[in-house]
Amino acid sequence: MAGCELHYSPGFSPVGRNSRLKFLSRDVGSRNLVRMHREKVLFKVQAAVCNNELQEFLSLPSSFMQGKRLSELSTFGIGGPAKYFVEVHNESEMSAVIRFCQKENIRYFIVGKGSNCLFDDRGFDGCVILNSLKFLESDGRGIYRVGSGYPFNMLGIQASNDEFTGLEFASGIPGTVGGAVYMNASANGQETADVIKSVEVLRADGEREVHMREDSNLVYGYRLSPYQTMEGFTSILAATFHLKPCTGARQRHRSFLERRRKTQPVAAKSAGCIFRNPGSGCQSAGALIEKAGLKGAAVGPAKVSNIHANYLLNAGGSSAADMKTLIQLVRNQVKEKFGVELREEIIYVPYTSK
Ligand SMILES: Cc1cc2nc3c(=O)[nH]c(=O)nc-3n(C[C@H](O)[C@H](O)[C@H](O)COP(=O)(O)OP(=O)(O)OC[C@H]3O[C@@H](n4cnc5c(N)ncnc54)[C@H](O)[C@@H]3O)c2cc1C
Repeated sequence: MAGCELHYSPGFSPVGRNSRLKFLSRDVGSRNLVRMHREKVLFKVQAAVCNNELQEFLSLPSSFMQGKRLSELSTFGIGGPAKYFVEVHNESEMSAVIRFCQKENIRYFIVGKGSNCLFDDRGFDGCVILNSLKFLESDGRGIYRVGSGYPFNMLGIQASNDEFTGLEFASGIPGTVGGAVYMNASANGQETADVIKSVEVLRADGEREVHMREDSNLVYGYRLSPYQTMEGFTSILAATFHLKPCTGARQRHRSFLERRRKTQPVAAKSAGCIFRNPGSGCQSAGALIEKAGLKGAAVGPAKVSNIHANYLLNAGGSSAADMKTLIQLVRNQVKEKFGVELREEIIYVPYTSK
């Protein structure tokens, strides 16, 4: 087969000699399904040989895996199995995996730290791509070019320790740089978009683009980035930040962290604040929930935090269904008591698009 050896090994699908492409049968219900799946994969691999794409496909150093529990990929600790799962470590892997999913009509979802996601109890009927594009380049003068899978809090700590200002708030946010750009993460009066110089993205046609922040067509706002609605966009690969020198940045990031530890349940399983703040003239979502008397309210193990009412916690074994019921309960009570319609900030990832 085009100079490539294919073989079975127990528990794994057919793999090329050097490939780390593995389909784990653990977590998958029926042996038959796994066998049928192996045959389908073998067919795909053979088809790929015909298309001369086997080399690229098998050279992915990542492992495609079946049945990965999404609870392991979200700070909520909630979510059933992904039909396929793959971790990507560089741009060409990201591009190859997305191209493969597009070609095979496999729905995909890119996850960073999963710190703003609520996955479904049934899991995800496509491919979940874990972004591990982790690199950081600094010119020592306030320009940081960072891989989208790099931890945003590490970037915040590094830049603040270097005494550059603009990302002090980031040291308390447990997501990736890609997630922070996508969500335009913010806190303590600072927001991601304020210090972006450019964003490198991959388009659905395989083209790579660099988007300059000053482009007025790219609109950012409260928990809003252009990537949430951009046609033909697939993924954020990297971002470059431009920060200004400022003595005191290190101290500021430490005091932000200290305040966070005192006022938020940072060690609990959560996705941070569940609801957006309603905006001008209105109290914060947390204040409204607290005034509605909902601190400590629970649906099974899904619970409103006693420390910060806009944090809903998985206090042990909560399902997505429990969490969604609690979210609805909070929304209803706040609407009833104050006439305010709370909107979720978190991304709900449905099992299927159908
Ligand atoms: C304890 C705690 C505190 C928090 N505090 C804050 C806070 O102060 N301010 C705040 O704004 N948020 C906060 N959050 C929420 C969350 O950390 C941020 O929204 C963060 O930016 C999400 O990053 P992530 O990598 O976890 O994204 P994920 O949750 O993995 O993904 C979020 C969305 O971004 C998309 N995405 C992620 N990476 C990429 C990529 N490379 N390309 C394309 N799409 C991508 C995903 O597909 C998904 O739609 C908090 C969360 C927790 C758990």
